[in-house]
Amino acid sequence: MERTERAAQRTGRDPKEIKLVAVSKTVDTARIKEAIEAGVSILGENYVQEAQSKIEEVGRDVAWHFIGHLQSNKAKVAIRLFDLIHSVDSIPLAEELNRRSEMAGQVMKVFIEVKLSEEATKFGTEEEGALLLAGRIIGLQHLSLEGLMTMPPYFDSAEMSRPYFIRLRLLKERMIREGIPVKELSMGMSSDFEVAIEEGATYVRVGTAIFGPRK
Ligand SMILES: *Cc1c(COP(=O)(O)O)cnc(C)c1O
Repeated sequence: MERTERAAQRTGRDPKEIKLVAVSKTVDTARIKEAIEAGVSILGENYVQEAQSKIEEVGRDVAWHFIGHLQSNKAKVAIRLFDLIHSVDSIPLAEELNRRSEMAGQVMKVFIEVKLSEEATKFGTEEEGALLLAGRIIGLQHLSLEGLMTMPPYFDSAEMSRPYFIRLRLLKERMIREGIPVKELSMGMSSDFEVAIEEGATYVRVGTAIFGPRK
């Protein structure tokens, strides 16, 4: 938390603009509770089922964000469990989330996951697809498009991630010019969140730097 604040100050940004998502996949509830006592207020989970039992045990005094790949058949459970979904990557998924949110009488906050690399293993929609998807989501009454998320390839040096973070920021600016009001940028993980903050991140998703290496 101190490191996110310092990175913000270095770049002349207000530290309050940057929210820390503590990524707790594979982390047990005892350690999650310790992190909450130490000041963590947003938890990020990758798997619906794993999150479900943890949320039941840890409770809802904190916000729970979904950051993994979401299958449409989990949309119903996901909208009930999570306060924000970082990883909407297709029109069918957006439509299913909208339908389920409407049935539940709620508005779900979502980010679009943008894939900026060629890696076959990554999810997300490429930039042009993201523009189309954003245009579709703003027409859906039960989704609120809050921002964009990306996950660059893994590099040994954080500087290598910078071009990806810049591209996500430029995509956000392009959307705003085209009349799509997106506010947030979810980018940066343990190895590169400081660079992401320099490039405009408003949410950083940090796992191992908080909880230690995953098993
Ligand atoms: C696991 C994960 C993170 C956190 O990664 P660390 O390197 O442990 O900080 C962030 N974002 C996503 C989408 C993840 O799956």
